[in-house]
Amino acid sequence: MFSSKSKAWSVFCAVVSLFILSAGILKLTVFAQAVENVKAADLRPRTTVVTKTVSASSKSFRAAATENARLKNSLAWAFGSKTQTGWYLYEALIQHTLKIEDNAETPEFALAVSGWQKQNGLAPTGILDKETLMALVKYWQARRLNSSIYPSDDKMLTAPISFFYDPTRSVELLKVQSEAFEAYKRMVAAAAADKSLKLKISKNGEFAPEEKFLKIVSAFRSREYQAKLRAQSPQSGSAGLATNSPHFTGQALDIYVGGEPVTTKDFNRAVQVQTPVYKWLVKNAERFGFYPYYYEPWHWEYVPRNLNK
Ligand SMILES: [Zn+2]
Repeated sequence: MFSSKSKAWSVFCAVVSLFILSAGILKLTVFAQAVENVKAADLRPRTTVVTKTVSASSKSFRAAATENARLKNSLAWAFGSKTQTGWYLYEALIQHTLKIEDNAETPEFALAVSGWQKQNGLAPTGILDKETLMALVKYWQARRLNSSIYPSDDKMLTAPISFFYDPTRSVELLKVQSEAFEAYKRMVAAAAADKSLKLKISKNGEFAPEEKFLKIVSAFRSREYQAKLRAQSPQSGSAGLATNSPHFTGQALDIYVGGEPVTTKDFNRAVQVQTPVYKWLVKNAERFGFYPYYYEPWHWEYVPRNLNK
């Protein structure tokens, strides 16, 4: 009697402990899962690291990703009469346009390309081919200033020399359209507040003399001055120094983003597009109304019509 009671008791105990144990395991599993999820979220690469977790929908874009990795450095296309190789110089701009941070070699990037292609009436292959690149260029170009009209004198100001890259720049070359200059100053203040850029700019927007990044290389240029530049550099052609320059408006700014300030050689642009300041501009300039000329990493235009769209 006693022994059978004790047997029943021990069976009961065993069942209860099994229950507690399995509940514990379940809890542990749930906890482990949560930890894993947190880790996955924290570790998700923000910039150029290849993403390890491939979502189901991007899996089918592995082949497109391989093709993009090849085309990024090899796609042949024409800029005016100049043959271009690849689109690696525009990777940051493309990522911004596609609203993605994954780099060009990932299936996620290819998936985003296909989404953009679909939106823009192209076959959604996920491959950034010549047709897609040309569509991207058209999209970027459409957001630029569409006039080269001189502003009236009352809309212009002479900016302090401390904002300019060349401290010896002559006073007639310091003119900027007033609204554009105010927007530029707000943008510089925002960049200064971003500690990761380590810019030597004070809160009131004053540059330290030794700071180069974000300073203005060139702003308003008169027709006469532009003609003089063309005469000095006749090889630059229509693409280099346009007869109808957006600099005539006083709303186009050449901003120092690294390397040689305004040289279109691929090796120079490759340096410029990698600087934290350039990458910051790509992500943030449009908040202040500034839009890029994709081919010249230093050239930014103040286009108020695009704001609040
Ligand atoms: Zn320019």
